[in-house]
Amino acid sequence: EQTFESLAEAVKWDGQALVPAIVQDAVSKEVLMLAYMNRESLRLTLESGETWFWSRSRSELWHKGATSGHIQKVRSLRYDCDGDTLLVQVEQTGPACHTGAYSCFYNEAVVGDGISGGSKQTAGRFDILEKLEAIIAQRDAERPEGAYTTYLFEKGVDKILKKVGEEAGEVIIAAKNRSHEELRYEASDLIFHLLVLLREQKLPLDDIMAELARRHLKQKSEYAISD
Ligand code: AMP
Ligand code: ZN
Ligand code: ZN
Ligand code: ZN
Repeated sequence: EQTFESLAEAVKWDGQALVPAIVQDAVSKEVLMLAYMNRESLRLTLESGETWFWSRSRSELWHKGATSGHIQKVRSLRYDCDGDTLLVQVEQTGPACHTGAYSCFYNEAVVGDGISGGSKQTAGRFDILEKLEAIIAQRDAERPEGAYTTYLFEKGVDKILKKVGEEAGEVIIAAKNRSHEELRYEASDLIFHLLVLLREQKLPLDDIMAELARRHLKQKSEYAISD
């Protein structure tokens, strides 16, 4: 934790006394938007725990979400190696973009895959989990009509919990039936609904992976199991 003064000192303010701030979803890790902060907006951001920017087009301080309600709760704020860029991780309420899009970066110039396109270079076996997490976060923000995920978020946490319970029961039945076909289907249902629940609770999939990794390491040191 740094004082405001030492942070403002570390920041390399540009010719207009501004610094660009990249805003990232702290849960899904999607890049949401880029905006500029001046000294006052940085101070207000730290003080309030919500993002404030300097609007270059309107020449005024701007509390993100003041009119739209789409506020951003600050989870972390850091600056880069040379202090000329801020990275703000937020808990995003609704869409980050004033167009109603989850992220401002929906214009794809070079074809990639998934929401962030080519920015995630991993080609792991479980990439689809990351992609699903990102798509569910997008659905949560944009609430497109007719989407099943929208329906779940609109119904609320009790509905999501009910589905997780139901799908867990269906997994049990499928396993009892010794049917791979049935189990593949029901396990997929369960994982999908679990991801929706994690989003609703604002718990990153990263945290689950870290917990699993932590247990694995602990087990290795306790029982000296090699892999
Ligand atoms: P809001 O801060 O969400 O209440 O939006 C108020 C105004 O700020 C909008 O009408 C836009 O002019 C501007 N704005 C909001 N979000 C963004 C964004 N992600 N990028 C650029 N401008 C924005
Ligand atoms: Zn830099
Ligand atoms: Zn935008
Ligand atoms: Zn099912």
